[in-house]
Amino acid sequence: MVLTISNITKTYKNSNKKALDNFNASLTAGVYGLLGPNGAGKSTLMNIITDNIKADSGDITFNGTSIKRMGKAFRNILGYMPQHQGLYDDFTANRFLWYMAALKGLKKQAAKERIEYALGLVNLKKDAHKKLGSFSGGMKQRILIAQALLNDPEILILDEPTAGLDPKERVHIRNFISEIALDKIVIFATHVVSDIEYAAKEVIFIKQGRLILQDTPSKVLSQVENKVWLAHIQVEKLKQIQSLYMVSNIVGEKNNLITVKIVGDDLPAELNANPALPNLEDLYLYLFNDFNEERRVQNAFTEI
Ligand code: ADP
Ligand code: MG
Repeated sequence: MVLTISNITKTYKNSNKKALDNFNASLTAGVYGLLGPNGAGKSTLMNIITDNIKADSGDITFNGTSIKRMGKAFRNILGYMPQHQGLYDDFTANRFLWYMAALKGLKKQAAKERIEYALGLVNLKKDAHKKLGSFSGGMKQRILIAQALLNDPEILILDEPTAGLDPKERVHIRNFISEIALDKIVIFATHVVSDIEYAAKEVIFIKQGRLILQDTPSKVLSQVENKVWLAHIQVEKLKQIQSLYMVSNIVGEKNNLITVKIVGDDLPAELNANPALPNLEDLYLYLFNDFNEERRVQNAFTEI
């Protein structure tokens, strides 16, 4: 099973910049984390794979056949959870899934079985008769994943499935996605590194419409080898250090000293820093954070 994305380029009509710029990737069964900040092109890519929007150029094939040529046959093996999807608050979970099954053209008996199965997978069987309006954020995300699973898809596309969830719900969704991922190509878009750090077979970093890096979570880290350090600094110095270096994390605090993790090309020599093991979070910062961005400071503070 292989999904091949070749030279996909897309510029929206009312825009003068490329949302996708000659994007290439080859995907086999397993979970792929599609990582990039807002505006990187994740949703555009997903909308093109699912044929909701047209690419300007390029081609996508599944097992060697163009998905355009496959048409309905491709849609039949596709499950898609869009980033923004309204739910009918008055529908019960059950009714919503029956409605979606009908849209997907499932026959009655098949729909019945798949709805049972999907509700079980997302652990919402006992809530099937409740109205969607009464669901928590996490339950809503799970019912949206359930609808994407109704046709037992070989390719499952999840656009920010953990958006708006609290940490506990995030963990739940994460674990559950690795469970259902067997024998499927799963593309999981997020800008939250921890969502896919352990679940993904490979991570794909997308920046301004381009694929900039694709490999296993451990192999991509070679990009920041020897670029991450730990330094002990005085609390009062933090602001100054942050204006000079990319601080990815504040690791600890003791007396008047704090330990900061610094990411960058050059050794922060005057800080007497020691090399540290990089993680995906550091890599993400290295690849995406504009060093002058105000947000960096806030990020570092929220980690305390
Ligand atoms: P992501 O999902 O990674 O946040 P998107 O694919 O939504 O990124 O957006 C990629 C780029 O395309 C952004 O610059 C965004 O502003 C632009 N874009 C997305 N959708 C539209 C649209 N319907 N019309 C015009 N520009 C769009
Ligand atoms: Mg998006």
